[in-house]
Amino acid sequence: MSMFHFHCPGCAARMAVADAERVGKRCGVCEATRMWESLPPVIQETIDAAVRRGNMPGLFAMRESLPSFGIPQAMDLLVFRRAALGMDGSV
Ligand SMILES: [Zn+2]
Repeated sequence: MSMFHFHCPGCAARMAVADAERVGKRCGVCEATRMWESLPPVIQETIDAAVRRGNMPGLFAMRESLPSFGIPQAMDLLVFRRAALGMDGSV
Protein backbone atom coordinates (compact mmCIF):
# COMPACT_ATOMS: atom_id res chain seq x y z
CA MET A 1 0.00 0.00 0.00
CA SER A 2 1.48 3.33 -1.00
CA MET A 3 1.18 6.33 1.29
CA PHE A 4 0.72 9.96 0.30
CA HIS A 5 3.09 12.35 2.03
CA PHE A 6 2.45 16.04 2.56
CA HIS A 7 2.71 18.77 5.18
CA CYS A 8 -0.23 19.93 7.26
CA PRO A 9 -1.34 23.34 5.90
CA GLY A 10 -1.84 24.59 9.46
CA CYS A 11 1.37 23.68 11.28
CA ALA A 12 3.58 22.06 8.60
CA ALA A 13 3.66 18.75 10.49
CA ARG A 14 4.61 15.83 8.28
CA MET A 15 1.58 13.79 7.32
CA ALA A 16 1.22 10.41 5.67
CA VAL A 17 -2.16 9.11 4.61
CA ALA A 18 -3.30 6.08 2.64
CA ASP A 19 -6.34 7.84 1.22
CA ALA A 20 -5.69 10.38 -1.57
CA GLU A 21 -8.80 12.30 -0.56
CA ARG A 22 -7.17 13.21 2.76
CA VAL A 23 -4.11 14.80 1.15
CA GLY A 24 -3.89 18.48 2.05
CA LYS A 25 -6.16 18.17 5.10
CA ARG A 26 -5.13 19.60 8.43
CA CYS A 27 -3.69 17.29 11.06
CA GLY A 28 -5.66 16.28 14.14
CA VAL A 29 -4.02 18.95 16.30
CA CYS A 30 -4.91 21.74 13.86
CA GLU A 31 -8.44 20.44 13.50
CA ALA A 32 -8.75 20.33 17.29
CA THR A 33 -7.38 23.88 17.57
CA ARG A 34 -9.79 25.25 15.01
CA MET A 35 -12.74 23.42 16.53
CA TRP A 36 -11.75 24.55 20.04
CA GLU A 37 -11.60 28.20 19.04
CA SER A 38 -15.14 27.95 17.68
CA LEU A 39 -16.57 26.79 21.04
CA PRO A 40 -18.32 29.16 23.46
CA PRO A 41 -16.06 30.16 26.40
CA VAL A 42 -18.37 28.53 28.94
CA ILE A 43 -17.92 25.16 27.23
CA GLN A 44 -14.15 25.66 26.99
CA GLU A 45 -14.01 26.36 30.72
CA THR A 46 -16.16 23.34 31.56
CA ILE A 47 -13.98 21.03 29.48
CA ASP A 48 -10.68 22.47 30.75
CA ALA A 49 -11.82 22.12 34.36
CA ALA A 50 -12.67 18.47 33.68
CA VAL A 51 -9.39 17.79 31.83
CA ARG A 52 -7.49 19.10 34.87
CA ARG A 53 -9.20 16.42 36.96
CA GLY A 54 -8.12 13.67 34.63
CA ASN A 55 -8.53 12.02 31.23
CA MET A 56 -11.80 10.29 31.93
CA PRO A 57 -13.54 13.35 33.39
CA GLY A 58 -12.20 15.32 30.42
CA LEU A 59 -13.53 12.85 27.85
CA PHE A 60 -16.82 12.65 29.70
CA ALA A 61 -17.20 16.44 29.69
CA MET A 62 -16.51 16.51 25.93
CA ARG A 63 -19.14 13.86 25.30
CA GLU A 64 -21.61 15.87 27.37
CA SER A 65 -20.82 19.23 25.77
CA LEU A 66 -20.15 17.97 22.24
CA PRO A 67 -22.51 15.07 21.55
CA SER A 68 -21.53 14.94 17.87
CA PHE A 69 -17.92 14.15 18.80
CA GLY A 70 -16.48 10.77 17.99
CA ILE A 71 -13.84 9.13 20.14
CA PRO A 72 -10.94 9.99 17.77
CA GLN A 73 -11.93 13.67 17.81
CA ALA A 74 -12.28 13.64 21.60
CA MET A 75 -8.85 12.02 21.96
CA ASP A 76 -7.26 14.65 19.70
CA LEU A 77 -8.93 17.40 21.68
CA LEU A 78 -7.85 15.84 24.97
CA VAL A 79 -4.19 15.74 23.85
CA PHE A 80 -4.50 19.32 22.63
CA ARG A 81 -5.99 20.62 25.89
CA ARG A 82 -3.54 18.69 28.10
CA ALA A 83 -0.67 20.31 26.20
CA ALA A 84 -2.32 23.74 26.35
CA LEU A 85 -2.82 23.39 30.11
CA GLY A 86 0.83 22.47 30.62
CA MET A 87 0.06 18.85 31.43
CA ASP A 88 1.79 15.79 30.02
CA GLY A 89 0.76 15.65 26.37
CA SER A 90 0.39 11.87 26.34
CA VAL A 91 -2.96 10.32 27.14
ZN1 LIG B 1 -1.32 20.73 11.76
